[in-house]
Formats: sequence, structure tokens, C-alpha cells
Amino acid sequence: MASPRTDSEVSEASEVLRRVFGYEEFREGQQEIIEHVIAGGDALVLMPTGGGKSLCYQIPALVRKGVGVVVSPLIALMQDQVDALRALGVRAWFLNSTQDPDEQRTVEAAFVAGELDLLYLAPERLRLESTLRLLDRADVSLFAIDEAHCVAQWGHDFRPDYLALSLLHERRPDVPRIALTATATRATHQEIAARLTLEDARHFVASFDRPNIQYRVVPKKEPKRQLLELLRTEHPGDAGIVYCLSRASVEKIAAFLVENGVPALPYHAGLDPVTRAANQARFLREDGIVMVATIAFGMGIDKPDVRFVAHFDLPKSVEGYYQETGRAGRDGLPSTAWLAYGLQDVIQQRKLIDTSNGDAAHRRRLGSHLDAMLALCETVECRRVQLLAYFGQEGTPCGNCDTCLSPAESWDGTIAAQKVLSTVLRLLRERRQKFGAGHIVDILLGKKTPKIIQHDHDTLTVFGVGTELSDVEWRGVVRQLLAQALLAVEGDYGTLVLTDGSAAVLRGDRQVPLRREPARTAPKAAKAAKARGAAAADLPEEAAPVFERLRAWRAATAKEQGVPAYVIFHDATLREIAVRSPASLAELSSVGGVGESKLAKYGQHILDTLAESPPA
Ligand code: ADP
Ligand code: ZN
Repeated sequence: MASPRTDSEVSEASEVLRRVFGYEEFREGQQEIIEHVIAGGDALVLMPTGGGKSLCYQIPALVRKGVGVVVSPLIALMQDQVDALRALGVRAWFLNSTQDPDEQRTVEAAFVAGELDLLYLAPERLRLESTLRLLDRADVSLFAIDEAHCVAQWGHDFRPDYLALSLLHERRPDVPRIALTATATRATHQEIAARLTLEDARHFVASFDRPNIQYRVVPKKEPKRQLLELLRTEHPGDAGIVYCLSRASVEKIAAFLVENGVPALPYHAGLDPVTRAANQARFLREDGIVMVATIAFGMGIDKPDVRFVAHFDLPKSVEGYYQETGRAGRDGLPSTAWLAYGLQDVIQQRKLIDTSNGDAAHRRRLGSHLDAMLALCETVECRRVQLLAYFGQEGTPCGNCDTCLSPAESWDGTIAAQKVLSTVLRLLRERRQKFGAGHIVDILLGKKTPKIIQHDHDTLTVFGVGTELSDVEWRGVVRQLLAQALLAVEGDYGTLVLTDGSAAVLRGDRQVPLRREPARTAPKAAKAAKARGAAAADLPEEAAPVFERLRAWRAATAKEQGVPAYVIFHDATLREIAVRSPASLAELSSVGGVGESKLAKYGQHILDTLAESPPA
């Protein structure tokens, strides 16, 4: 159990925050967690991506006696994590399968000798008797279990290794443990606690709100062009991720962006491992790369300056959407979560569920995940409030999502719904036929297409009864009926059929509120960012070129040292330097993100860069 903290330990934590990391203040939740672990308590931490989980174990590891052992599944990223810590003057190293035996021995010796502050360990090591013996010989300050949801997820590669974590606890019950995850669901939370015997630990659940992310859902019209416009008008030169459902569309979109001058790279499980790793490395290391990827990409990517996450296709669940969009804006600067969504997405996802393997219960579960996602897309309320409500948290209308910025109206779509449903019904009753959405809309609009004439559909009583709405509007009605499960799709051709809910609508017993798309879908804030990347947005006129100069210096330095640009300094730090234009090292040291080590290493270069060409 945690003993009461002493004042000296508390001030030591703040001192480390300032001196090593260069930050003035703790973020929400950090201080409590850090104090608890420093005092020897166990902790289970649920905090959103970008919330600042790493400091929660890094600072206690620096304050407590001994070496902090971090179990992390992100082997490919360990080098970068360790580089980032070393840039701060922290003695960090890792042990994983990518190292040769000599290097491993060197690290082990340093670990046992207590010459490290932090040791990152791949989970697979935990099952080796030799690792356990190694841990017995060292003075361990704490065990941090990163990405702790791995212990809970069935089918996760690391699960068996993570289960070996309980062994650690049995052998070293005196060492405090801190498990961390960004996975928000209650079930996962409970499973982590049970599997890691952390029921008696203190649980810290942060707010899952990401206020700097602007959530937007746009009606899908010409998605490629819409995406390009987003990148050109709001995110030129910014790093971002575009998620697509299939490998084929990843390739297509990446090629399309490259043709249009955007430095885009593809990433999916079908690429050979070398290309995949190279693309990931470029995304992490260089500024302004757009990664076009399937959801195979992103777990543990802790690049702080991802300025946008765009979904080209509808995610399968709100959890997935939240995790994926959460990769934007870890540094706290304004970022965009953009999703293009249309009728075909609903049809496609429903079809995927119908044809998926697994029993009826499994399909029902997939169906309810999709329903929640569709409800988020179709809401006329604040998206953030709805998103947080999904995770059981409360929020107030945020002013930073599309429905807050340009409110969508709700209209009574009961009659429109009846027209669609009765067309489907008549085709079935009178003609024993089923058709897809496009043809149903053509009937309502009274279009004499070859298909209509061929099937004699201009003689139906519903032919031409829907001229009050446009083609696009009717497709919106159909989409929303599908989303509300008042209509369903069937078979390979996506033909429309009625559902259990349809009858009440046709009888007039059920109202159908529908969403009217706002005339202007681009939020106001978008204008301000014009022609400048989001990282440089809102900078005072004279600071913008300085910021770009600092970025160029950073890119060159990162390349020279073979580390990601953000390891040198974050965008947020460069922005603050550009705005404040410090004239001395002392002034520079008060900028957020400039700690002792970075000041010594880069301080003079920064001052030189600032002096290079004084503002005209
Ligand atoms: P998580 O692991 O929760 O996704 P990180 O630990 O990577 O988040 O932190 C996200 C970003 O926020 C990092 O770039 C980190 O340097 C920064 N950060 C963390 N704590 C603070 C703080 N107290 N003040 C300023 N920046 C912080
Ligand atoms: Zn909102």
C-alpha cells in the first residue's frame, strides 16, 4: 500500500518535470498518479492517447531508487522511444530480439549495475527464465506495463507474454506496478485489473475528451477530391493519416495523392515487411508525410505532430474511430478528425457483417457496433458529447466539432420515409422484385431510365411521387433509414428490403426524424488555416516564417542524427520559440519542452537560427 507522500518527493517530481522535460505544469491527472507511484503504490491508468501517460512512469522511475522496467509490445518503436529519452539526458535502453548478443550483454550489465534510469523490455522476454533471473539481480524501481489492454485482448499476439506479468509480481511483490492503456471500455478495464491482479491498485480514469481534435463528418460526394481539398486548404505540409478499408483503396488513394503533389505513402499488411517498415520510418522521421493505410497502421505510433486523421471509409465501431482519430494531435495543438460518409458505406458495412464468419451472436455484436457508429455520423447534436457518452462520460457542446460549428437541422422525414418504404413494398408485392437504392430513387423522381422502361416501372403508383427532394437528398433519406434500421440491404447487389421497424412507419405509428445537411459543411475555423499547415495556423504574421526556419533547422538536425524530428523538439515548442523570440539561453529555457539537456545541446543553434535573418 502507498505510504503518505512526503513533500520532498512531491517537489522532486515537479523539479524533474521542469529540469528534464522542460514542462512547467503537470497535465490533468499526471501529478496524482506520479505521486502515488513514487510513494510505492500500484496504479491502473486509463488515459486517452496524447494524455501524457509516459511521464506517469518515467518521472517516478527518475525519482525512485533503482531502474524502472517498462514492458512494451512496440518493439519497432523502442529505438525511437529510447532516442527521445536520451535526448532529454535520461539513461534509457531496451532489450529485444533486434539486438545482437553482445549488445544485449552490455545492456544487461548496465542494468544490473544500476547505470540506467529506464529499461524497455519486449513482453516475449518475460517468459524466459534468464530474464526473470536478470530482474532478480537488479534494483528495480517500478514495473510499468504499457499498452496494458494487450493482456485483455483475445487473439492479440502478445497476450500469453503479458500473462507472464503476474509472475513478475509474485517474484517482486515489493516493486510498485503501473499499468497504462488508452482503451476506454469498461470491460477491458476490468479484465486488465483481473489479469494483472491490480484490483487493489488505485484506478485512475482520466477524461477521454481530446479538446484539440476537431471532429467532422462530411457527406461523401467525390471523396478523392474532397480529401485533396482538405489537405490543400487546411493541411498543406502537415503530417497525417488517411484510413481506408481495403488494401486496394490504400494503393489507389496513395497514388492519387502523389499525382497531386502530396507526399503520401501506402501502408497495409499486404506490403512486404521491408517496404512497410521503410514507409513507417519515413512517416515518423520526416515532416509532412501523409500515410495512407488500413487500420493495421498506427498502434503505438507516438508521433506527436499528426495534424489530421482522415477516414475515407466508415470505421466499424466507435471504439475503432476513437482510437484511430486519437492518433491526431498528441502534442495538444489543433488537429482534424475528418470522416467522409455516404450511403455506400452503410450498404458495404452491412454486407460485410452479413457475410462475416461467426455465429448469430457475433453478427449481432458487429451490428450493434456499427449502429453506434452510424448514430454518431447521423447525429444533429455535438459529436464530442455523443462520443464521450459512448464511453460513459459526460460532456457539454464543445464548439469544436462540425455540428457545433455549423448546426445541422433535424426535419420530419416521416412522409419521405413512407415513400421510400412503400416503393420497396410495392415492388415486392406487385412485381416480386427487389432493387438497390439508385433505382428506388429513380422511381421516386419519375426518371424514365432504360431500366425503368425495361421493367415497366413508370406504371407504378409511386412513380414520380418524390420530386420535392433531389437525387442527393433521397440518397440521404435512404442512408438514414438504413442507419436507423428501418430499411436493410440484402445480397451482393445491395437490394433494399423492409425490416421489423418498417411497418410502424408505413402505418404512420412512428415518426422519422432525419438530419438535414447544413448548406456549408466546412467549419468556420477552416478558413483561418488557409494555405498554411495547421501547425503554423494562427501564428502571428511575423512568427510564421520564423517557425518555418526553425522547422527546417530541426529537419536537418534530425536527419544528421538519424532520429525523428519530434525527438529534437515538438512543433509546440518551436511555435512558442517563434512567438516569444527569446534573446538568451536563460529566456529560451523557460519555453515549454526545453529542458536542461536540450538547452545545452541545441540552445545556441536555436538562438543562431533566430538571429539568421531578422524580420524585415
Ligand atoms: P500518451 O502515451 O498518453 O499517448 P505521451 O506520453 O506520448 O501520451 O504524451 C503526449 C505528448 O504530450 C508528448 O509529446 C509529451 O511530451 C507531451 N506531454 C506530456 N506531459 C506533458 C506536460 N505535463 N506538459 C506538456 N506536455 C506534456
Ligand atoms: Zn461539438
